[in-house]
Amino acid sequence: MLRLGLTGGIGAGKSTVSRLLTALGAVLVDADVLAREVVARGTPGLAAITVEFGHDILTTEGDLNRSALAQVVFGDPQRRAALDAIVHPLVAARRAELVAAAPDDAVVVEDVPLLVETGAAPGYPLVVVVDAEADERVRRLVAERGMSEADARARLAAQATDGERRAAADVLLPNPRRAPGSAPDPLPRLVERLWHDRLVPFEAGLRAGRPGPLPPGAPGPGEAERARRRVARATGGDVRPRPGDSWPLRLDVERARPPAGGDLDAALRAVGYVRAGQGWFASADPGCAVVVEEVDPPARRARVGGPA
Ligand code: ADP
Repeated sequence: MLRLGLTGGIGAGKSTVSRLLTALGAVLVDADVLAREVVARGTPGLAAITVEFGHDILTTEGDLNRSALAQVVFGDPQRRAALDAIVHPLVAARRAELVAAAPDDAVVVEDVPLLVETGAAPGYPLVVVVDAEADERVRRLVAERGMSEADARARLAAQATDGERRAAADVLLPNPRRAPGSAPDPLPRLVERLWHDRLVPFEAGLRAGRPGPLPPGAPGPGEAERARRRVARATGGDVRPRPGDSWPLRLDVERARPPAGGDLDAALRAVGYVRAGQGWFASADPGCAVVVEEVDPPARRARVGGPA
């Protein structure tokens, strides 16, 4: 199984890309759908919200009145945090359930609008960002979702900047404005190539414990930094590039603290890395050139009788 984090600014085209990936065989876990599901009528989530915010945030039918709740939390960080503290853990638990229920060989696409804002990007083996200029996104929201321009701009301003999202992207899918009557939309073809050339071999490699073929050339600094954050997050360890270079990454295995119950290999596999040889890990991603070297600190080498 390969988990893919899909994000982009509002109106960039995440839902469009999700649909294309689903048509190719991906399993979709949609954060917006989960966020509605966990506060549906009769759920413990809605009960907790009612305890916190009172019955005024319910419709007469007993459903969540989203606009009433939005008014209560808008501009009040404490109330907003109280709401997030109820909803986020429920969404995370439901997401984990759905991911666990996916077939072993699935490519699971998690459509997460706030992937970058919440700092979740390094938790995914691959992050795909759908990218469109801010003005074009506003145009889509006004023309196709009936939002006012002021509303659309306010929504954009509350999200990460395009630069922040691009920095988190392993794959950037441009989805710019197209002039009416222009050539066919290139997006379906781009998504198809991503699926066949990268996602399918990445998933198969990860499942088989087989590293991808290293792409030629050294990784760029952005790629090396994304890999460093990923490996550091997964292992809870001290990860830094070899002195004077941006790679390979060196992982101090003595200080690594993989999540409870997991070993180092399992922790690295969760972010796409498999053992490539004695003391080495490489990503199963055919598009990733960063390798990870295990480093035994001198104290441990001395203890086990190796050279100091
Ligand atoms: P998001 O999920 O990122 O908010 P959507 O996928 O819903 O964005 O796209 C926003 C709007 O723009 C939708 O109405 C969608 O139909 C339209 N759109 C997005 N990408 C394209 C495209 N490549 N060609 C035509 N319309 C598009």
